[in-house]
Amino acid sequence: WTRGNQTDADNSLTELAALAETAGALVLEGLTQRRSKPDPATYVGKGKAAELRDIVEATGADTVICDGELTPGQLRQLEDVVKVKVVDRTALILDIFAQHASSSEGKAQVELAQLNYLLPRLRGWGDSLSRQAGGSGGGGAGGGVGLRGPGETKIETDRRRINDKMAKLRRQLAHMRTARDVKKDVRRTREVPSVAIAGYTNAGKSSLLNRLTGAGVLVENALFATLDPTVRQARTPDGRGFTLSDTVGFVRHLPHQLVEAFRSTLEEVADSDLILHVVDGSHPDPESQISAVREVFAEIEAVDVPELIVVNKVDAADPDALKTLRTRYPDLVEVSARTGEGVPELVTALAEALPELAKEVHALVPYSRGDLVAKVHEEGRILSEEHTGEGT
Ligand code: GDP
Repeated sequence: WTRGNQTDADNSLTELAALAETAGALVLEGLTQRRSKPDPATYVGKGKAAELRDIVEATGADTVICDGELTPGQLRQLEDVVKVKVVDRTALILDIFAQHASSSEGKAQVELAQLNYLLPRLRGWGDSLSRQAGGSGGGGAGGGVGLRGPGETKIETDRRRINDKMAKLRRQLAHMRTARDVKKDVRRTREVPSVAIAGYTNAGKSSLLNRLTGAGVLVENALFATLDPTVRQARTPDGRGFTLSDTVGFVRHLPHQLVEAFRSTLEEVADSDLILHVVDGSHPDPESQISAVREVFAEIEAVDVPELIVVNKVDAADPDALKTLRTRYPDLVEVSARTGEGVPELVTALAEALPELAKEVHALVPYSRGDLVAKVHEEGRILSEEHTGEGT
């Protein structure tokens, strides 16, 4: 079903197809239904569900992917009609995140989000016993966890195991977070300005990072080639050092629980001194992408960080669309990561926008009796200390 107009629905389905391909699926057929709201039982209406089953039978598809989040009940009932696995947008995105997480923190975050998603969707949840033996799975999120078994006892055991595992992951994440904060403080004391490359998924962030640093970040024709921020050392032409970090690709309608799960990863963006906001200039509606990304900036409180809009793929962009963008964002920089066009200008703009950090910085050191505010010198020497208010 679709809430907006036809163009919105088409854009959203095109993106869903691209996401599915990124997850390794081969997309056979698309189907939309216009309704004021999803069918409470089977998400799409009864007739559409039957049509879907016919398509599944005719094409031999093994999965149905829905553009939205289905309730556990809708998922199950639609599966019962179409007789193959049904995956919703959230499960699909989780699956892609799982494939691309590389750091232990990223992996733990994805696993936590997956278990959280899976918990209310355990097949047989509140169901009659006869149905619990079956079940074709809750999408990519369920892989390898071995959750479905016969009988309620099994489900309850699974449920407890999942809850235990989630508690363990939360504890691990809390530890990793402390470790990361300490590392960040060290970076701060080194006074290296940090630049975060952010932008809509597939905008060409990795390609651009490659161009800029020659750092060998993997470029593949896939959304989310980068999940964890990869921090690279970089230098301006006049020799000032800075770090460049590539961040997870943004998507429209990023399920809220994922924004939560990736808050710490995205905090890297909020914490940077400059954001290179990369936009796909060849996209039919680059402005909607800009707003989608800016919404996430607002969510992670990154609105105060200076932003340099970089319109990429100018080699493939429509000149009129570029003109409109230029009027809207007069300070933008146009580049092509593919041809290298505009890259020298980008480097100049970046060097100009890069803040000069003061030689002395304030570091917040967690301390048992209140925060210890220390003035730290470039070499990490503490110049002065001051205690703030109440204990932590
Ligand atoms: P990311 O998801 O933002 O990191 O995007 P990638 O760097 O992985 O690029 C996504 C796709 O866009 C890849 O197929 C790239 O080859 C392609 N691409 C990147 N930059 C350009 C460009 O300047 N021009 C064109 N035509 N394609 C590009």
